[in-house]
Amino acid sequence: MFAGRAHAAVPRVYIDPGHGGTDPGAVGNGLQEKSLTLDISLQLRNILQANWSVDVRMSRTTDITRSLTYRTDDANAWGANLFVSVHINSGGGTGFESYRYPTSDSATVSLHNALHPRVLSGMRSIGTVTDRGQKTANFHVLRETTMPAVLTESLFIDTVADANLLKRADFITAVARGHAQGIAAYLGLGTTPPAYSTIVDNATAGRFTASTNWSTSAYSAQRYGTEYRFANPVLASDAAWFKVNIPQAGNYRIDVWNPADPGYNSAAPHVVVTASGNQTVNVDQRTGGGGWRSIGTFNLAAGDRDLVGVSRWTNATGYVIADAVRVTRV
Ligand SMILES: [Zn+2]
Repeated sequence: MFAGRAHAAVPRVYIDPGHGGTDPGAVGNGLQEKSLTLDISLQLRNILQANWSVDVRMSRTTDITRSLTYRTDDANAWGANLFVSVHINSGGGTGFESYRYPTSDSATVSLHNALHPRVLSGMRSIGTVTDRGQKTANFHVLRETTMPAVLTESLFIDTVADANLLKRADFITAVARGHAQGIAAYLGLGTTPPAYSTIVDNATAGRFTASTNWSTSAYSAQRYGTEYRFANPVLASDAAWFKVNIPQAGNYRIDVWNPADPGYNSAAPHVVVTASGNQTVNVDQRTGGGGWRSIGTFNLAAGDRDLVGVSRWTNATGYVIADAVRVTRV
């Protein structure tokens, strides 16, 4: 249990995204462990900071090389109250397993017991995942840390069924959310607000607006719903807007769906109205259509408003497409 341990007023959570830089970790099925661990860890940090009063420090926040000694020295020097190392497995198995040091104290066992089932249930909210259990191992980051430490191995990168889950943005968010809920439970911080996710299609009544310059099409089978909108690029402000009622201030992942075609726009500007101003993300609509793709996680204010705009204002050629947007609290 965290209670009773000497600690700062605000708990200090150390997140260690495995590998990075010159060390890709495990690779398979077009995936790299170092990228997945960073993606999970950044979302984990955002979820923790959005929902609870905690200090979070990470061994890395970008694709850089960190030695194992750096990771544990940094956590020890900072005075972290707990340490979670995020990894992806390989070697031909399937499922989720997690580790603590073989001779761990009771606080570490408590952290492990809080974390493991919550990560697993997060994963199982998306797909079928084998529970490989809570294990012990003499890993550097578990042995050399001076605070409770757990290392998670979220599925097998070299197993196709596992990799297919790891390729899903909603799965990565669920893994991050499970880690956050486990950490919060260990720290006694209470439960996270209910999950929130909504989809706004270009046909959703009252939630999509576009000028008459935007035409309607059902040309591509990759469309979301029965139709989508398209317009020629122009150097003028004429965005199509998706309106979303954000229930509570916090961090939300925004995914967009568009059909793709070689004749569509290579840099379609997507404007997101965040709590700190508009942010623009360009989407290549020539490839990767017919599914959700994340344009990032954003801090959003509560309230009902035009949230995501697909702008025609781009020098890139080809039709700009507006089809559907999904917003998920993380
Ligand atoms: Zn690893």
